[in-house]
Amino acid sequence: MIIVLKPQIAPEEITKFTEHLKADYEVKVNRWDGVHSTVLGLIGDTTKVDIEYIDAQEIVESVKRVQEPYKKANRKFHPENTVIKISDNVSIGDGSLHIMAGPCSVESEEQIVGVAKSVQASGATLLRGGAFKPRTSPYAFQGLKAEGLDLLKAARKETGLPIVTEIMRVSHIDMFENVDIIQVGARNMQNFELLKELGKIDKPILLKRGLSATIEEWLMSAEYIMAGGNEKVMLCERGIRTFETYTRNTLDISAVPIIKNLSHLPIIVDPSHASGKSRLVEPLAMAAVAAGADGLIIEVHNDPPHAWSDGAQSLTPKQFDKVAKRVFALKNSL
Ligand code: PEP
Ligand code: MN
Repeated sequence: MIIVLKPQIAPEEITKFTEHLKADYEVKVNRWDGVHSTVLGLIGDTTKVDIEYIDAQEIVESVKRVQEPYKKANRKFHPENTVIKISDNVSIGDGSLHIMAGPCSVESEEQIVGVAKSVQASGATLLRGGAFKPRTSPYAFQGLKAEGLDLLKAARKETGLPIVTEIMRVSHIDMFENVDIIQVGARNMQNFELLKELGKIDKPILLKRGLSATIEEWLMSAEYIMAGGNEKVMLCERGIRTFETYTRNTLDISAVPIIKNLSHLPIIVDPSHASGKSRLVEPLAMAAVAAGADGLIIEVHNDPPHAWSDGAQSLTPKQFDKVAKRVFALKNSL
């Protein structure tokens, strides 16, 4: 349930009203203070709340029930966009476009530092790289693990680029303490125990959409993290499973404006995993920017034919440079 208060109500009155709601109805109250109004979001069993009684209160402008099962991720509870500050010059969701770029897997210091420097020169503001890899085959390269995290940190030290990398299990959370953005991969989108634990830490999370997850299921996964207290969640559309076999997945571009409408959380698009083909990365990246994405995550490798994972969808630094120029030019023209 959403209660919009009249403008210019004294803070003490709002606090008194909030306490009264919590005590009388045993609900949690999420408060959002905007420039012109204050919105109270009631979370819990609101079936006993007398909507007419609330509406009749002097300080109340309007009240309505919220149908959607996600509350904290819902734009109705938080009308303005969430902006997630990653570093002094990287804030995601503030209207600017950020590109996270780097290899699928961290392979060596030379590789990750070299790729970091070149993507930075092309305008990427964050470095991606997998240290723990969720692979379809148990015989495929599983990542450099802890060593991969150290190499990412070495690349951050060299370039200043914040790092984004995937976590696969709860017991690794401490190991990710010094990572700037923790990625939850598509395969773990509904690993609820992992999501609950990530809700207890104060760290930005990049939550990828599950392989066949609906938008509502994806938002409910964001809700799991936010319900625990961590509201720094970014959503990432990375393509979904459809009947089409030409591409690795099907990029659901409509998810971008739909998420913008339903939620206040930033939305990032991954054209690399969505297509599986390097030549499709540029047009899909352009489409994502045109649709309103806050950022892109793109795989870039120094030597794609010899990449230890996802070579077919990886751009060379030179190809990435062209894509980055085109997407920034498009963004500036919007
Ligand atoms: C990745 O980013 O390398 C990855 C494994 O992505 P996804 O979870 O979207 O498949
Ligand atoms: Mn990959």
